[in-house]
Amino acid sequence: MRLYSADYEEALKKGKLLGERCLDCGTLTCPPLAVCRRCGSRRLEAAELSGRGELMTFTVIRVPPEGMEGPYVVCLVRTEEGPWVMGRLEAEGEAGQELLGRRVRLSGFHAWSDKYSAGERVTPVFRLEGEK
Ligand SMILES: [Zn+2]
Repeated sequence: MRLYSADYEEALKKGKLLGERCLDCGTLTCPPLAVCRRCGSRRLEAAELSGRGELMTFTVIRVPPEGMEGPYVVCLVRTEEGPWVMGRLEAEGEAGQELLGRRVRLSGFHAWSDKYSAGERVTPVFRLEGEK
């Protein structure tokens, strides 16, 4: 079964991180795309990822876009299964460079909408392993 953005976002609301497995080369793509990120095949099926990974980089948004509330942390996570996923990071206190490389896990979702978007969007939220 193919996975569409709406399915991806609905799954996030239920605490699941979904991607697509390529039926030709086995590569996982997350979030869903129309084609495999490695070989371009359109033969893809939905697959659940663990939601765990490594914090590769992040930035702190102190002056948020119109309609958003800040500050917040945007992060890039390399999942255990391979795909790099952008989301938000729940960080205790001030987020600094010492967080790079830390283990993270999916902890929730952030739903947002601004006047530039076509309706609500849902973003994964990650938390550092070892923090409640
Ligand atoms: Zn492929």
